[in-house]
Amino acid sequence: MSGLVAALELEHVGHEVTIIEARDRVGGRVHTQRGRDGSPIAEAGAGRIPRSHPWALDYISRMGLALHPLYPPPELTNLAFVDGRRCPLGPGADLADAVALPANERALGYAGIVKTYLLDNVDRLLATGAIDTPAWPPEQLADLDRLSVPDYLAGRGLSQAAIKLLTLGAFPTAISPLLLSRVLIHYDREGLSIIEGGNDNLPKAIAAQLRGNILLGTPVVAVTQFPDRVEVTVISDGRTMTLAADALICTIPYSVLPTIAFEPALSLSRQQILSEMRYVDVAKVAFRMRSRFWEAEHLSGFAQLDTGAEIWSPQWPSNGHRGVLQLYQQGDRAAAMDAMSEPDRVRWAIERIEQVFPGAERHVEECVSYSWQLDPWARGAYGIPCPGDIFKWKGRLAGHEGRVHFAGEHTSEYPAWIEGAVRSGHRAASDVNEAGG
Ligand SMILES: Cc1cc2nc3c(=O)[nH]c(=O)nc-3n(C[C@H](O)[C@H](O)[C@H](O)COP(=O)(O)OP(=O)(O)OC[C@H]3O[C@@H](n4cnc5c(N)ncnc54)[C@H](O)[C@@H]3O)c2cc1C
Repeated sequence: MSGLVAALELEHVGHEVTIIEARDRVGGRVHTQRGRDGSPIAEAGAGRIPRSHPWALDYISRMGLALHPLYPPPELTNLAFVDGRRCPLGPGADLADAVALPANERALGYAGIVKTYLLDNVDRLLATGAIDTPAWPPEQLADLDRLSVPDYLAGRGLSQAAIKLLTLGAFPTAISPLLLSRVLIHYDREGLSIIEGGNDNLPKAIAAQLRGNILLGTPVVAVTQFPDRVEVTVISDGRTMTLAADALICTIPYSVLPTIAFEPALSLSRQQILSEMRYVDVAKVAFRMRSRFWEAEHLSGFAQLDTGAEIWSPQWPSNGHRGVLQLYQQGDRAAAMDAMSEPDRVRWAIERIEQVFPGAERHVEECVSYSWQLDPWARGAYGIPCPGDIFKWKGRLAGHEGRVHFAGEHTSEYPAWIEGAVRSGHRAASDVNEAGG
């Protein structure tokens, strides 16, 4: 997304752009998986677009794409699955009842715990007025970036049972409360959408508007800078080729970048970030179901588990009466899934789904799966700053080194979102244009 957006903007102001792409498709981590009939089953990568992400929405609208809600109507209930038990989250339900909590936390209830222990930091963050300004991250919030969310909550005296409730689902537990607060500002459950026909319609639509070449199946292996140009060495059809340009926008994830030979070498500062940035392990296995049998129980098909996992049920109009249940597993269990054979991984996934939606296996029509850490062009789902990193990396993630400009979600203040990729691509395009690249 970052590369495509950068190319689109540069072409608009008259530059000649070539996209060099290792995979045999555009879109990178926006990747819709389709079934035998060609219709979408599920998103392997980016699965939801919040209504509070204006840059992503702007490109969706410019490409003439329609959105539809991620979640089904509110009369269908989401589930939590905690300590092996199903907890429907319908009207009047309190997730706090799912676990044994100390009396003070029980009195607060789930909503009260969220308000007291998470949303207070969101208010602090908003009060700084620093979001999306050069003042980010503001020094007065440094205390929120010292510990991981679970350690921070434990330090504030919250019980382990309550921490489990606050970190249900595919929650990246390594992040700090500072990053979590940024995400919560923009997270509005009702405002989450998917793109009609599949999220990959966005990168495909942008690619279709580009005049320049898109070289697919062409991995970059080396980048060499000269006083008057930058040269990129690629492998194409098994042959080594060199392309020259005035400027290069490098959107390769920082998990993959260390495999590229830079001459001169990248700055020590960037090399340090490359060695420090952690990528989250994510595996997704999606089953197309002959029927949405869960709706008979007034369930939405969405669930948050206490095992670093979620179950999603994207509603594609093309599904008709059919449905989808997708296991979205992150963390150690996702890494463990990588060691399994494909049939074992699929079996493992349907067994997890069966626990939450009994009878699911009988309805399976077809299945797709994906591991981001096994993908050589991603080597992980997304880069996340761990405690301390946001301040340590301040002003050093993006920028340029000579004629090479760095972009991608990992260089943005919206890591792990399309929004971050799009903003970073736009910024890099402006920088190249202003540099006269
Ligand atoms: C599991 C998962 C869930 C997500 N959920 C959401 C979500 O719900 N909402 C949301 O907005 N975002 C989500 N995201 C994040 C979103 O997908 C990314 O932030 C965004 O797509 C990243 O775009 P990018 O351009 O920075 O990187 P990429 O999409 O990774 O693009 C980089 C490109 O570089 C290519 N490349 C890599 N190495 C080389 C090489 N050596 N030579 C040539 N090309 C190379 C890759 O093939 C790729 O096409 C999710 C991502 C994942 C993986």
